[in-house]
Amino acid sequence: MAKVEEKLRIAIVGGGLVGALAACFFAKRGHRVIIYEYRSDVRMEKSHGQSINLALSFRGREALKAIDLEDILVKRHGTCMRGRMLHDKDGNLKEVLYDSVKGNCIYSVNRRYLNVVLLDAAEKYPGVQLKFNRKLLSADLEKGKMQFLDTNTGMTEDAEADLIIGADGAHSKVRKIMSRKPLFNCAQTYIEHGYVEISVPHTKDNQFAMSGNNLHIWPRGEFMMTSLPNENRTFTGNLFAPFRVFEKLKTREALLSFYSEHFPDLLQLVGEENLVKQFFEKEPQTLISIKCKPYHVGKTAVIVGDAAHAMVPFYAQGMNAGFEDILVLDELMERYESDFAKILPKFSELRCDDGHAICDLAMYNYIEMRDLVTRKSFLLRKFLDKVLYTLVPNFWIPLYSAVQFTRMNFRECIAHKEWQDKVLRTSVFYFGILFFAIFAILVL
Ligand code: FAD
Repeated sequence: MAKVEEKLRIAIVGGGLVGALAACFFAKRGHRVIIYEYRSDVRMEKSHGQSINLALSFRGREALKAIDLEDILVKRHGTCMRGRMLHDKDGNLKEVLYDSVKGNCIYSVNRRYLNVVLLDAAEKYPGVQLKFNRKLLSADLEKGKMQFLDTNTGMTEDAEADLIIGADGAHSKVRKIMSRKPLFNCAQTYIEHGYVEISVPHTKDNQFAMSGNNLHIWPRGEFMMTSLPNENRTFTGNLFAPFRVFEKLKTREALLSFYSEHFPDLLQLVGEENLVKQFFEKEPQTLISIKCKPYHVGKTAVIVGDAAHAMVPFYAQGMNAGFEDILVLDELMERYESDFAKILPKFSELRCDDGHAICDLAMYNYIEMRDLVTRKSFLLRKFLDKVLYTLVPNFWIPLYSAVQFTRMNFRECIAHKEWQDKVLRTSVFYFGILFFAIFAILVL
């Protein structure tokens, strides 16, 4: 552990996944931390609003490992997904492994459980205080002053800190306050697609209704269904589709005929009544992508996780990248001995362009998951990647592996893929010339 010259007062706005993780890292270095969370204590509630499972991969695991939580969350309570299982309309299955060379998998973990474990872990540090039902109303980020609404009493509460960490999610109030500063750039994009959560029950004898070690996908061109296994042998997934498709699914009949046409095998597993009940329980949710720069104000405020780089969920990297933000901050605290005048600008320098890169990759992966995965050219490219990765695993790392199974920065992941594309295009060109030359020699 780094030596701490001065114990700082850290205010973390948002006690979601990234905020709770950040509290552990800062408290581990001896700082005094207060988490201010808008909602009530998730540990006292039965269910959580958003999707109930998440795919955890290398970047997230490395962060959990640093605070000794990897074992309990991944090894004991995570469900290994070794590849995608593609379902066609006739119910035929095709498995595409994530990493047939090194056998890496990604892990499905319950979102609520993850949050509970992180909050419990944070609370165990002596310097950590958790305040629920506190909504950030306003802040002077340079002076470290904040005003919260206590949603229980309706009273306002003033607070002060040496460092404010905005871990308050995609619609971050801290980011909104930052956006009034000169030279702060921010762009938000809602995609035209939304999602509805659908769960698949376990079988009568308490088994998985489909292979329990895969992320299941029903790619249908402009829309798709996905499903991730849960520890209790159910699956939870989503229908991702354009809102104009959801507009047509307003009645029971329309919904059942849509599922019979596009996802007949899934309909059978979910059951008609169950599907209708789940589907009409909630409105389709929107998906947003946020790119901003910088991520900090002076030495007193910084945004992390979705507050800094919310992204569409198709690379399963939102939480993983948010966890990696905290690892990067921790690495910088080690290097600069908790001198935030040096740490925060460096964090923006290292992380902003990377945040933009993973937002772009996540957008790209939606097209891959719902459409490209069924194409021969995609499968051929996967095959070439596999052969080259087997032959030269340290030299040729497929894009998916680089994102999910390494800590290569996201810009480098894209640059590496562009280089691979160029190598393959050039090779095809020269093989073509060679082929025609041999053909000409033989024929003439
Ligand atoms: P959040 O989890 O949104 O937490 C923010 C917290 O701040 C909340 O608790 C909120 O109540 C609180 N808050 C908000 N405003 C205030 C305020 N004014 N004052 C005080 N508190 C406030 N990521 C993955 O890595 N893998 C996946 O498989 C994956 N799947 C996903 C599937 C779907 C359908 C979606 C929508 C997202 C998925 N993600 C996934 C992304 C992941 O959910 C997010 O990246 C992650 O939750 C971000 O964590 P966070 O702590 O930054 O934000």
